[in-house]
Amino acid sequence: KRTPLIAGNWKLNLDHLQAIAFVQKLHWKLEEGNHDYADAEVAVFPPFTDLRSVQTLAAADKYSLAYGAQDLSAHDSGAYTGEISGAFLAALDAKYVLIGHSERREYHHETDELIAEKVAAAHRHGIVPIICVGETADDLEKHGASAVPVAQLRTALGGAKKGSEVVVAYEPVWAIGSGQAATAEQAQQVAEALRAVVAEELGAEAGESTRILYGGSVKSGNIAGFLREKDVDGALVGGASLVVDEFAAIVRFKS
Ligand code: 13P
Repeated sequence: KRTPLIAGNWKLNLDHLQAIAFVQKLHWKLEEGNHDYADAEVAVFPPFTDLRSVQTLAAADKYSLAYGAQDLSAHDSGAYTGEISGAFLAALDAKYVLIGHSERREYHHETDELIAEKVAAAHRHGIVPIICVGETADDLEKHGASAVPVAQLRTALGGAKKGSEVVVAYEPVWAIGSGQAATAEQAQQVAEALRAVVAEELGAEAGESTRILYGGSVKSGNIAGFLREKDVDGALVGGASLVVDEFAAIVRFKS
């Protein structure tokens, strides 16, 4: 059985001092509600400059919260000004890294091939890549919902090491920050197609065990519907992950 994963992508929000306050509040809120981490794993994705602070909190007080970065370099070291390597993230005990978020694809021109290299870089350092895929409104109109995310995932998985964990996040670009989430049925349909790609590329066992998240205007009011679908195993939350009470309510979707 796959443990649901609720992941909060902070994007370019919260500096390291704000991150300390936020993570402490989130931890207390979940403790207070007796959150059972077996019901849902929780992970936050702060900016790079916050990671050291989040690590200190997580380690010192044995928080059950996981954390990761929003991106990493395809390279491990060298003359790559401005880049952060998987080795550095591993040294901060980052469990996960987001790869290929649509904002990276759009504003930083990341290609499927580069994303595959980044997946390989994450696996070289024992970090679980959360591979983000999704179609634009234009893609949806021209090719339907599944074609683009399926092709993106197939190429990205070319970089994956067999036997190493991956997580897939289906984030339709038209649903991100728009307030217009996909329906649970739409998310399920694409998640099923993505699971088939994982099985083809990484084997039947990986197909069964890999978690597929939905992202795009997830809120406490719609999370339960997504999690009821058989191939949707969690959520990648943007805006709503920046509000402690709202994010905690999403994490506690069962109650
Ligand atoms: P919103 O939840 O703000 O729509 O963002 C989704 C997202 O991009 C998460 O990575």
